[in-house]
Amino acid sequence: MSGVSVPHMDPVFPTKTFPNHHSIATGLYPESHGIVDNTFFDPKYNETLNTNDPRFWNYRPDVLPIWIRNEMAGEGRISGCLMWPGCPQRYGSKNLLPTYFSPTYNASVPWENRVETVISWITNDSKPANLVFLYFDEPDTHGHAFGPNRKETLDEISKVDNRTAYLVSKLKEAEIFYKINLIVLSDHGMQGVTQKNIVNITAFIDPSLLKAKFGSTPVLQLIPQDGKGEELYSSLLQQSKMHSFTILTKKEMGKRYHYGAPRRVLDYVVIADVGYAFEDFQALIEFYDEFWNITADPTREYGVHGYIPDASSMKAFFIAHGPAFRKGFESPPIRTIDVVPLISEILYISGVPSNGSLERVVGMIEWVPRPLYQDPQPRVITKLPDFLRYPDFRARKFTESLEQNRNRRILELRGSKSRQYSWPVGKLFKHS
Ligand SMILES: [Zn+2]
Repeated sequence: MSGVSVPHMDPVFPTKTFPNHHSIATGLYPESHGIVDNTFFDPKYNETLNTNDPRFWNYRPDVLPIWIRNEMAGEGRISGCLMWPGCPQRYGSKNLLPTYFSPTYNASVPWENRVETVISWITNDSKPANLVFLYFDEPDTHGHAFGPNRKETLDEISKVDNRTAYLVSKLKEAEIFYKINLIVLSDHGMQGVTQKNIVNITAFIDPSLLKAKFGSTPVLQLIPQDGKGEELYSSLLQQSKMHSFTILTKKEMGKRYHYGAPRRVLDYVVIADVGYAFEDFQALIEFYDEFWNITADPTREYGVHGYIPDASSMKAFFIAHGPAFRKGFESPPIRTIDVVPLISEILYISGVPSNGSLERVVGMIEWVPRPLYQDPQPRVITKLPDFLRYPDFRARKFTESLEQNRNRRILELRGSKSRQYSWPVGKLFKHS
């Protein structure tokens, strides 16, 4: 696509599916949005929560995915969400759902059907969607069973390319490809792991020091027995010097990975080194072998993600194309938390709290914000770009109030001290 690309996008810790999807959708670190793993223990309920549980998604009433904030911004904005994690959940104190969503996740729905569904939302006559999220489950599934390097996974990546081409061809057929802004991205990377790199962490933990252990490869969370925290920590710290894992306190996790504040992060976090797994991975290997009819072999690679975001194998990708984006532009790396500031700017949704930075992504944008950001003397926009009227404004004339609104925002930004973009940050969300 002749649009914007980045060398990579930095995921959030842990580099697992649900935490990263929710960071893309909310612009928040897991410590702010509360989805700290694919399943996790919540001390408030004294239960392990999974994705089917509304409590999993509703950590705080002010954490709202951008598809909810888009509709709250009014002016005819309509959101759709298809199989993206968290789509069918209600959010906030008003229990809001997007106008269009898939009630359940169903991996057997062909990708072509998914594409046709979202296009029908965008082109709907009475309620055209102006923001749509769509999820595809490959090459993740193959990547786990076959590792990132084998033919089976590489073939699947080619298929993903073809399906993306199908999406583009369908958008062209509907005569909207050049009118809409398309972002294609991943939530994380994939690391090859063999059976010989399994660390038996249970063998290093004195059971008399441990109250409970949660999580799965490569991230575990530990609650020590009362008064035994220091002892548990120092014994595992000692073992970590000789074996391939790291132990960090909740405080250290907060500082290093923005993974410290909430009740859902427990006292100690144990992370396998990149390329290693804990013993729970053995059961997964057996599952993959049986499901995919794989011949077991200690040197065979499987795929794992969840490691620290610094690992090069965990980096995600991001490309964007459309009227809002510059053409043939490679931006410096961005982070998953920067996607919401980008979407909010393009769709004129104001007041979205975020840990991300509009400044990091504003250079990707073709129109107003870029010259505004770089020029000491920004030009005043007197007319909204055409694409903004499509599809959410196509049925009506561009109104004066909207233009006044936009001009006010430009003046606000112009007046900011640093002459850079400032982003409204909610009191409780830390800015980085
Ligand atoms: Zn995965």
